[in-house]
Amino acid sequence: MKIIRVALDVPVATLFDYRCADAGDEDVGSRVLVSFGKKTAVGVIIQVGTTSQLPHSRLKTALRVLRDVPPLSAADLQLLQFASAYYHHPLGPTVMNALPVRLRRAGKLSRQAVTGYALTAAGMAAPPDGLPARAIVKRRLLALFRQRRTLDAAAIKALAATAPAALRQLLALGWVEPWESAPSAALTPETIIAGPALTPEQEDAARGILSGLNGFNPFLLLGVTGSGKTEVYLRAIEAVLAAGRQVLLLVPEIALTPQLETMVRSRFPGFPLVSVHSGLNEGERQQHWLAAQSGAARIVMGTRLAVFTPLPDLGLIVVDEEHDTSYKQAEGLRYSARDLAIVRAQQRKVPIVLGSATPALETYHNAVTKRYRLLGLTQRINAAMPHIECVATRDEKLQDGLSQHLIEAIAARLGRGEQSMLFINRRGYAPVLMCHACGWLSSCHRCSAQLVLHLRDRRLRCHHCGHQAAIPVTCPECGNQELAPLGQGTQRVEAALALRFPRARILRVDRDSTRRRNAWQTMRSQIHAREVDILIGTQMLAKGHDFPHLNLVGVLNADSLLYSTDFRAPERLFALLSQVAGRAGRGDTRGEVLIQTEFPQHPLYTALRELSYAAFACSLLAERKQAGFPPFVYQALLRAEAPRLDTALAVLARAAQLGRDLSRRVTIYDPVPAGMVRLAGRERAQLLVQADSRARLQNFLSAWYEKLAAETSSRARWSLDVDPLEF
Ligand code: ADP
Ligand code: ZN
Ligand code: ZN
Repeated sequence: MKIIRVALDVPVATLFDYRCADAGDEDVGSRVLVSFGKKTAVGVIIQVGTTSQLPHSRLKTALRVLRDVPPLSAADLQLLQFASAYYHHPLGPTVMNALPVRLRRAGKLSRQAVTGYALTAAGMAAPPDGLPARAIVKRRLLALFRQRRTLDAAAIKALAATAPAALRQLLALGWVEPWESAPSAALTPETIIAGPALTPEQEDAARGILSGLNGFNPFLLLGVTGSGKTEVYLRAIEAVLAAGRQVLLLVPEIALTPQLETMVRSRFPGFPLVSVHSGLNEGERQQHWLAAQSGAARIVMGTRLAVFTPLPDLGLIVVDEEHDTSYKQAEGLRYSARDLAIVRAQQRKVPIVLGSATPALETYHNAVTKRYRLLGLTQRINAAMPHIECVATRDEKLQDGLSQHLIEAIAARLGRGEQSMLFINRRGYAPVLMCHACGWLSSCHRCSAQLVLHLRDRRLRCHHCGHQAAIPVTCPECGNQELAPLGQGTQRVEAALALRFPRARILRVDRDSTRRRNAWQTMRSQIHAREVDILIGTQMLAKGHDFPHLNLVGVLNADSLLYSTDFRAPERLFALLSQVAGRAGRGDTRGEVLIQTEFPQHPLYTALRELSYAAFACSLLAERKQAGFPPFVYQALLRAEAPRLDTALAVLARAAQLGRDLSRRVTIYDPVPAGMVRLAGRERAQLLVQADSRARLQNFLSAWYEKLAAETSSRARWSLDVDPLEF
């Protein structure tokens, strides 16, 4: 009798054995329907054998092996097994969560939906005025097809509500055709469109990567913003596609940077691309995943979860903006997609390119110590580096958060018809409401955080737990009637600028103003069409957008991030400000960046002014080495949360004791309250464990985790975070 070991989405560290008469070795990696408790569940077969720890009489029989979808390959399972072991997360949930939701169920898979649509030769040749002028959506859709050559259903829907109808008409005209498995034959021989000639620096970098296509070769492409990293990726991608292999391209957030997708699609029209990200619906997720697994999709572009996509012919992985913290998953399997991408490249013996202007120090350290090959791009293409200056605000009375110098600089841009952007890391009107009579501050009763004043919709909002409240008319503590906003948010800066520059066209870009579907897309085209004079925005604006008319960037509250207790704060601030500064002067004029600060002499600002990532990174690395921080030590954080802090601390104290009994070769610190103690009504504490080698830490964690799991107390919820980024 065959016995299968099955991974199920159950939060325990074991697999489950079932009898299964018709299972064979080729079913490893297949989905299987089993009964579990009183229900049925879909799992994945990890092993097929003849033995079990349990007496055979107690084993249930599996209901059915689901062979409608090809099994996960040995390589796919190997990556999932690594992730489960390294992050100490049970294998069952690790495997099941890597599948698209539809494959986690047993229902019949509908597969009528095609993976995407491709422009045909007729569509390419159709005269520009072949469509009536009032068929606006149809024209826009055709234009988009001409730009990108292939589109998936999600991209079509994103264009306009009526775009699917317009698509049907283009299909009827024969200008567009569905593709399911093979690239559109009608588009040959133009399967690869040549890019611009590379600069000598780009040429060197590309040659470096091309020389390493035949094995596991990690590269760090360190290039200042606007230095043309994308062209280097494209050159490597081209070579890999031409060699008949697939490419995995990871990006932090697809929705924020559609240019890259456009670029890749339009450059490789003969090579189907699918996107994998959380914005897809279930059907699209399934479709794209299967297209990747079958090899029909040659390029998979996606966010962190895409790192697990099955790719039988994988030949290259590219991780763009590798330092971005959105590669780290904060819940469940707490993985770093960047780190898993490295592991995957190693397992599959393929090259991997990590690209950034400001790499994570861990990555840079690997390059300095020659574990990764460093490729540098030091020059911007067709543009000078921006001029970065600090505006000392210590002795100046700011007007609504703005210095005189910055106001004049904006006025000068307005006079010349150029765009300015103000960056402020806080949405809403003001970070807090205050009573000047008694010192009361609006704060969230569920979190250790303040309620942010949102004047537009007249609410106080917690940005952590979502709690909201009406704005009180009088002080809840002393009855004083004069409550005042304290500090600046994007809305307040917007209001102040509107008063000062009544004729300027001002656009605010933050999570509140872009909530509507397609809002950000519309805003981007307004910016490109020069219908905006002043942009005000948060982090959203920092990511890789190319705004050619933007010439001035002002940074308003950078200091708030300068003296944080998190040892990674300077690294992050430097990355953020470099990225923000990179927005200035991408066209033909030299951009200017003004950073308002009380500490203009701070080494971080000095390094930024001199645009010297390498020097700054080296000084940070020296500090980290001295202080014993990563990348010179390896860390894991055990977190606990409970209704009361005492409980969480007590659970961690017990865990620390268990750990100390196990090993003296790792450092176990005392439990402490978390940086943000209260969140959504629960109190949180954490326990740091540290070792001087990864292997030593891992050995300890394996033994410790087993003990912890055996003790499961219902008093607190706990979780383990390996290589934590947030403290
Ligand atoms: P990065 O990603 O390094 O910030 P980009 O890849 O966005 O830089 O490139 C900046 C700009 O330079 C883009 O508009 C790109 O099209 C252009 N560019 C890149 N390489 C070349 C080249 N070799 N010749 C001409 N233009 C280029
Ligand atoms: Zn008061
Ligand atoms: Zn809250």
